[in-house]
Amino acid sequence: MGLDLGVSSFATTSDGFRIHPAPEILSAMKRAEDRLRWEQRKLSRKYRKGPKSRNYRKKKIRVARAHERVANMRLDFLHKASTSIGETQAVVVVEGLKIRNMTKSARGTKESPGRKVRQKSGLNRSILSRGWGTFLALLGYKLERRGGRLVRVDPKNTSRTCFFCGHIAAENRPDQTAFRCVSCGHEDHADANAAKNILRAGQARSACSPGEPGEFVA
Ligand SMILES: [Zn+2]
Repeated sequence: MGLDLGVSSFATTSDGFRIHPAPEILSAMKRAEDRLRWEQRKLSRKYRKGPKSRNYRKKKIRVARAHERVANMRLDFLHKASTSIGETQAVVVVEGLKIRNMTKSARGTKESPGRKVRQKSGLNRSILSRGWGTFLALLGYKLERRGGRLVRVDPKNTSRTCFFCGHIAAENRPDQTAFRCVSCGHEDHADANAAKNILRAGQARSACSPGEPGEFVA
């Protein structure tokens, strides 16, 4: 199976399934994060140099607890998502280097800030940003203990290539979610098209080096 780690969905499979927290889980996560930010703001207002007051230390513990709640919710989701894939698949192909690229593209640079920065970084900041690395570690472990494996491929052009005809163009992606090939007219969800390209890249790797783990070192 190919797996595209995304921003609008946590992940999309090459079969077109979207892996994302259920709406009620997502809103609970958001509430926990709002609570964390609120506690953090309260704490920073109380900050003074020198010995910390009893009140400050109490607030600091509240921040730590709020942090833990957010982390636990995220980890719970990552465990469920990685189990559902890790226990049903033999080989899963993902993109190497993708995590760093996406964080970078969301932030953009000083000279050219990323498109839809607020929206993207909002999602990145929530469950997604710190979730991908852990997710892949969990998934790799769950696959391997059953004799499967996680294969990483070069992320170059996976989101801009038409799965049907192979045409590569930025114009194939009119927006964040749609894929429409300007050459052959093939249409798909952008993330599903990417996941299919990722799967094909993984299969090409396996064909070139039978018996090799096929690791793309990120
Ligand atoms: Zn095409």
